[in-house]
Amino acid sequence: MRSIQMVDLKQQYLHIKSEVDAAIHEVLDSCAFINGKPVQDFAQELAQYLGTKHVVPCANGTDALQISLMALGLQPGDEVITPSFTYVATTEVIALLRLKPVFVEVDPRTFCIDPDAMAKAITPKTKAIVPVHLYGQASAMETIMEIARKHRLPVVEDNAQAIGCDYIFKDGSTKKTGTIGTIGCTSFFPSKNLGAYGDAGAIFTDDDALAEQLKMIANHGQRARYYHDLVGCNSRLDTIQAAVLRIKLRRLDEYAAARQKAADYYNKAFAGHSKITTHVTATYCNHVFHQYTLVLNDVDRNGLNEYLAKKQVPSMIYYPVPAHRQKMFSTFGGMAYQLALTDWLSERVISLPMHTELDEEQLKYITSQVLEFVNH
Ligand SMILES: *Cc1c(COP(=O)(O)O)cnc(C)c1O
Repeated sequence: MRSIQMVDLKQQYLHIKSEVDAAIHEVLDSCAFINGKPVQDFAQELAQYLGTKHVVPCANGTDALQISLMALGLQPGDEVITPSFTYVATTEVIALLRLKPVFVEVDPRTFCIDPDAMAKAITPKTKAIVPVHLYGQASAMETIMEIARKHRLPVVEDNAQAIGCDYIFKDGSTKKTGTIGTIGCTSFFPSKNLGAYGDAGAIFTDDDALAEQLKMIANHGQRARYYHDLVGCNSRLDTIQAAVLRIKLRRLDEYAAARQKAADYYNKAFAGHSKITTHVTATYCNHVFHQYTLVLNDVDRNGLNEYLAKKQVPSMIYYPVPAHRQKMFSTFGGMAYQLALTDWLSERVISLPMHTELDEEQLKYITSQVLEFVNH
């Protein structure tokens, strides 16, 4: 059996090596390392894939979130509602911009922001909402957008974990996650579903004026060369990364299918187990399984993590400490939050290996090792 990785980038690379190597060499030959043609080509191809008007490439997913919030013209102290159960980047950029993160609960079945909790957290100071499509599954965007429209609030989707996910509206129409809100953000960190071979990110919007703002902010607030209208930052997608991403974008749906197949295997293996809640897929979307995450009932979670490691099965806790319990947010009253479901999940989740290269032999071994521990 091939050794099991949390994410097997090497094996995936081997399938596309000749194409990737050639594309990288082409960039080397052109020496157009910054803003080379592949950057614009990739932005166009991604816009077409997502069905969005504008894709603004940038340096990473954290920058994508920061630039998006900067483009909304918020004022220090404005409140931004976001789930506490997420990767730190989502919440960190809010605080970095001197905005006030307002943490709300997630739905423990989908791990995504609870729209009711979100609605209840809205105050006159609320100026934006940042839902996170965690683990590869959409937040309940139709409901979120109804609430946001009623309160005239912009929505910035953190789509770093769910690129390629289809949201299905009540009328049966679909849209890609990241293209439903005012602005969508993604990360191409190597282990993400569409991963570069270094840092990379992008921002999406259908709004022409916002797209201009986003582009300017990502480029030192520059309107025309050496004319700087705004305080911005320097956040670029480099050409080599764009060349790699073009190749992987063409395979993104195939990659999602491979992840879904592995998830099906896990779901079947753990179905009906009294101590394991399998990763549920909401009816309003497909699921692109950035992670496959179990919720354990009455199981020593850290014990399982260590047991699996001894059996050469990697597993991860995403995330052991929710935002409201991070020291980083102590000045934002983080510890005062009562988010019982988020705390409950943080103590019970465990993510199993999930990537495009898992084969049946590996899946069989992983699931049998999990069951071995849980059943004894
Ligand atoms: C990865 C990730 C980010 C940040 O992306 P980087 O490219 O690492 O900056 C933001 N939000 C979520 C939910 C992520 O998973």
